[in-house]
Amino acid sequence: PELPAARVRGTFLDFFRKEHGHLLVPSSPVRPRGDPSLLFVNAGMNQFKPILLGTADPRSEMASYRRVTNSQKCVRAGGKHNDLEDVGRDLTHHTFFEMLGNWSFGDYFKEEACRMAWSLLTEHYGIPADRLYVSYFAGDAASGLPADEETRQIWLDIGRLLPFGLKENFWEMGDSGPCGPCTEIHYDHIGGRDAATLVNTDSPDVVEIWNLVFMQYNREVDQSLLLLPQFSVDTGMGLERLVNILQGKRSNYDTDLFTPLLHAIHQISRVRPYSGRTGAADVGKVDMAYRVVADHIRTLSVCIADGIHPGMSGAELVLRRILRRAVRFCVEVLQTPQGALASLVPTVSHILEVVIGTLMFFPQVTDIINENEAHFLSSLQQGSRLILRTLNSVDYKHGVFPASVAWSLHRDLGFPLDLVDLMLEERGVQVDRQELDRLITESHKVKLYSDVLNVETLMMLDVLSLAELQRLGVPHTDDGLKYQYRL
Ligand code: ATP
Ligand code: MG
Ligand code: MG
Ligand code: MG
Repeated sequence: PELPAARVRGTFLDFFRKEHGHLLVPSSPVRPRGDPSLLFVNAGMNQFKPILLGTADPRSEMASYRRVTNSQKCVRAGGKHNDLEDVGRDLTHHTFFEMLGNWSFGDYFKEEACRMAWSLLTEHYGIPADRLYVSYFAGDAASGLPADEETRQIWLDIGRLLPFGLKENFWEMGDSGPCGPCTEIHYDHIGGRDAATLVNTDSPDVVEIWNLVFMQYNREVDQSLLLLPQFSVDTGMGLERLVNILQGKRSNYDTDLFTPLLHAIHQISRVRPYSGRTGAADVGKVDMAYRVVADHIRTLSVCIADGIHPGMSGAELVLRRILRRAVRFCVEVLQTPQGALASLVPTVSHILEVVIGTLMFFPQVTDIINENEAHFLSSLQQGSRLILRTLNSVDYKHGVFPASVAWSLHRDLGFPLDLVDLMLEERGVQVDRQELDRLITESHKVKLYSDVLNVETLMMLDVLSLAELQRLGVPHTDDGLKYQYRL
C-alpha cells in the first residue's frame, strides 16, 4: 500500500517525539507486571499507572516522565475490556491490537491535547475534517459527576460535537484504578451526510478511532472516586483502525496488517479466498473463520512471546480458550490440516516484526501451539459428533439444546463454553441457559470446597455425600473412591 502500517505508526510517534517533545517509551509486555487487577495489558496507560496514581518510585526513571508517547501491545480478551466475542463478527475489534498513545503527566492538559490530536489527524494524516465527529462527557447525575464543560468549549468551533454519558465518555481501566472523563474522535467511512446519530452505535460505518482521557480520579476498590494527586492526559488510538482509514479501506482486515495472513491462511486451507462478508448469516462461516484465525494467531504469537502460555487459570486459561477457538475454526470451517495454525507464525512475525522483535522465540511459539492443538483435536472430533448426535436424537426438543450435554462438552472434553455457544448459534440452536447457569454455579461450589480441602476429605467430613458428588458430575476414577476435581 501507498502508506504502509509501519509508516502510519512512525508518523504518530515522530509527531509527538520530534514536534512536541515527547519521550518515546517502548511497549511493555502484554503480561501485566505487578497488577493483579488485570489479566492482560489492555491499554497504553497500564505501564504508567504508578505515575498517574502518584505512587511511582521517585528514584525510578518513570518518575521523571512528563510527556511520553508509545505504541502499546494490547490484549482485550478478559476482564473489564473483553472483545473476544466480537472478534470475527465485526471488522474493527481484535483480541490483540496496537494502541498508539501520548501522555502528559502534570504537563499539558485538555486544550493542548485536543489541538495536537486534531492537527495530527487532519494536517499530517490528511483526514478530511468533515469525516470526523467528536464526543465529550455530558456528566452523570446519579454519580454526581459534572459535565466536561472545558472540553466542550475547546471543541466548540469544530461544530461536530456530541454529548455522551458515563458508558461512552468516562474511561476506566478496570474495576478499580485511574479514570476520568474522555473525549473521543470518530470517523465516518461514508461521508457527504450527517452521521451524528451513528456515533457510538456499533455501526460499521462510523468508527471510534481515538480516545483522549483526562485522568482526574482514581476508582477505589470500594468503588468511591478520589481525586488524583495530579491531573494527566492519557490517549489511545487503535493502529489497525487508523491504518484502515488511511489505506482507504472499509475493514481492518483489508490492510497490510492482515492481508498477508489471510493469504497465508488461504494457502493452507481447502476453501475459497477471503471475501470480507459479515452479518448474522455469516456467523461461523468461511469469512468469519478467516478473521478469527488471523486475529487469534496474532494474539497467540504475541502472548506466548511475552511469556503467557495456554493454561488452566487467569490469562493462561483465556489464551487456551483463544487457541481452541482458532483450532476449531481451522479444522471445521477452513478445513486445514493439523499444524496449520502454527505454520502461520512466521507470517505474524513478519507483519509485526517491529512489535515483537526478532524471531528468536520462534520454535518455542510454534511448538507450544502445536502441542496444544494436538491436545484438543481428538476432543474436538468427539465434541462435534456429540453435538450432531444430540441434535439428531429423538428426545431433542427443537431449538433448545440440553444444558447437560453443553456442560459435558465443557467439563469432559475441554470445550470453552463460549465456543459451545458459538457452535450452537451456527446451527440456529440455543442452549438451555438457565439450566446451564445452574450447572456452572454448582460446579463453582465444588471448586470452592475443593480449593480448601480435597474432595476425599470433604466426603469424610460428610460435607458432600457421594451421591451429591456424582450428581454434580465430579469426575472420578473407576474404584469410585478417589475423587479428583479438574477444570
Ligand atoms: P470500542 O467502543 O470500539 O469498543 P473502546 O471505547 O472500548 O472502543 P478505548 O478503551 O477507548 O476503546 O481504547 C482506545 C482506542 O483503542 C479506541 O478508540 C480504538 O481505536 C482502539 N481499540 C479499542 N478496542 C479495540 C479492539 N478490540 N481492537 C482494535 N482496536 C481497539
Ligand atoms: Mg470496547
Ligand atoms: Mg467506545
Ligand atoms: Mg473509547
